[in-house]
Amino acid sequence: MSRQIKAVSLISGGLDSLLATKVVMDQGVHVEGINFYTGFCVEGHTHAIRKKDRAKPKRNNALWVAEKLGIKLHIIDVIDEYKDVLINPKHGYGANMNPCHDCKTFMVHKALQWIEKNDFDFIITGEVMGQRPMSQRKDTMPVIARESGAGDKLLRPLCAKHFPETLPEREGWVVRDQLLDFHGRSRKPQMALAAHYGFEDYAQPAGGCCFLTDENYSKKLVDLWQARGNKEYELDDIMLLKVGRHIRPAPNYKLIVAREEGEVNFMQGYRNRFTSIKTTSHSGPLVLVEGEANDEELNLAARITARFSAGKNAEQVELELRDKDGTATKVKVKPMSVSEMPLSWYV
Ligand code: SF4
Repeated sequence: MSRQIKAVSLISGGLDSLLATKVVMDQGVHVEGINFYTGFCVEGHTHAIRKKDRAKPKRNNALWVAEKLGIKLHIIDVIDEYKDVLINPKHGYGANMNPCHDCKTFMVHKALQWIEKNDFDFIITGEVMGQRPMSQRKDTMPVIARESGAGDKLLRPLCAKHFPETLPEREGWVVRDQLLDFHGRSRKPQMALAAHYGFEDYAQPAGGCCFLTDENYSKKLVDLWQARGNKEYELDDIMLLKVGRHIRPAPNYKLIVAREEGEVNFMQGYRNRFTSIKTTSHSGPLVLVEGEANDEELNLAARITARFSAGKNAEQVELELRDKDGTATKVKVKPMSVSEMPLSWYV
């Protein structure tokens, strides 16, 4: 009896990886999914926090894809290893802080290690030639295959016909004629194929699959690194960049101002890590003070907090400053006026 051929597919939760996996499964290959959690993934975080997004489904799209396909999904935490990819990308960043080329190389390399350990035969990705300016170009895709070490064990079923035969094609594990030749930024071929398979309600994330493609998020990340004088970060740092309004009056500290109830609830969990400020005489946001602020700076932070409260036009607003240990101090301040807050403070 011939051995069952096995492949692992990189599942982001988007349509492309769903289709690429299905194309190979239909050829009788046993496929399992792999999803790498970098800490920057878009899905299931902000949507779960912000009140205005509450109506959106809270599903994890990678799990949803695996369920649709009826395959096993391995979710692998790469938060620490990913730091080096983001901090020192050999091929640089894209339009924002997205190191897509190195990120793809890293993920395919991790998938290669996984198939070697688990005795699988090849790797599938949902890449489409010409779809992304950095990692999905005709010239960069072979570089990713080479630099990841995967070489011809990497099959991209949605655009395989634009590239030389890979190992699974040569070995007859998959039939090249049943692979595709998608290219370019149009999503129409993918949508037609999804309709053919009867897939509906798939995720259609705007931009990339992670926060690093987001301009505002990237600015906050760069600001964090500049303020610290190095590019180190912890998971909590990058989570907090996803919420609130960030205001930096001086390099040594910044304020994270909750914009709505969902963010207040999320940020409550950080009150034992940061000094926090809350108005008591008027309704207002929860504010976290990140960094080391002296008394004068905390007073300024209180005035900024008052600015974002219902008492912004009052003569005086009362607030509670709570340090990390839970010691609370009451202060009364005059809310800061718009003209006192330079635009350069807004990160
Ligand atoms: S968008 Fe993010 S996760 Fe996707 S390849 Fe680029 S850096 Fe990696």
